[in-house]
Amino acid sequence: RSWAESSIPASILECIEQIGYKEPSPIQRQAIPIGLKERDLIGIAETGSGKTASFVIPMLSYITRLPRMDESNKHLGPYALILAPTRELAQQIQVETQRFTSYLGFNCISIVGGRDMNEQALEAAKGAEIVIATPGRLKDCIDRHVVVLGQCAYVVMDEADRMVNLGFEEVLNYILDSLPVSNEKPDSAVAERPTIAEKEEEEEGHNGGGGGALGVGVAGEGGKRYRVTMLYSATMPASVERMARKYLRRPATITI
Ligand code: AMP
Repeated sequence: RSWAESSIPASILECIEQIGYKEPSPIQRQAIPIGLKERDLIGIAETGSGKTASFVIPMLSYITRLPRMDESNKHLGPYALILAPTRELAQQIQVETQRFTSYLGFNCISIVGGRDMNEQALEAAKGAEIVIATPGRLKDCIDRHVVVLGQCAYVVMDEADRMVNLGFEEVLNYILDSLPVSNEKPDSAVAERPTIAEKEEEEEGHNGGGGGALGVGVAGEGGKRYRVTMLYSATMPASVERMARKYLRRPATITI
């Protein structure tokens, strides 16, 4: 299966061709179609598998459909957020993401520890569709109003098990609870989540659009807007299952 067979928007297909990725990697084959349907995802995968592009391509396709970020809304903060355990991983994700954003004309900044906060404040003030952050520094920036998450309705937690092992569970809860578009009633226990096929059937009925105060997020039942939340992890300890149950809405799960 090639890129063109999927429903990736044309501008992003051109970008992929430009970057030179001839065909999708196994994780991309699995995750991108789910991501393009804007459904929540648990990805059990290791780094080095092409994981970054597997969530960045659907994220960009979501952003492409939103109003162009400009003076009227850039102060409301990013459209999408990627959380990673360490500065090094955040920077790796940023390098990969910027291959796409520089072609598409979007901004992608990183908010990580060890960098000057004023410098990050200046970058954030210029406006960025995507923020890549480590949890501790992002919380500091939120508390100091350096970063606002007023229109962020697309979140990826990368290497969630490592974030939890580093003691970030509470900080992650704090960040996710502060987002403007919720995943209310994440009633689906992880063990009971529907299969992809079931979700696909279910999806058919839910396409009636609808407002949502901000117009961000994805349309669900009754015109409600939902956040898209993705969680990638190499392992699924109880703590990560707990986060998934709390913040993901009927996720599909893929394992590589
Ligand atoms: P990641 O697992 O996201 O860290 O990606 C590992 C490496 O694979 C990165 O250097 C990417 O640039 C590269 N990569 C990702 N997707 C593809 C693809 N479809 N074809 C070739 N290289 C890729």
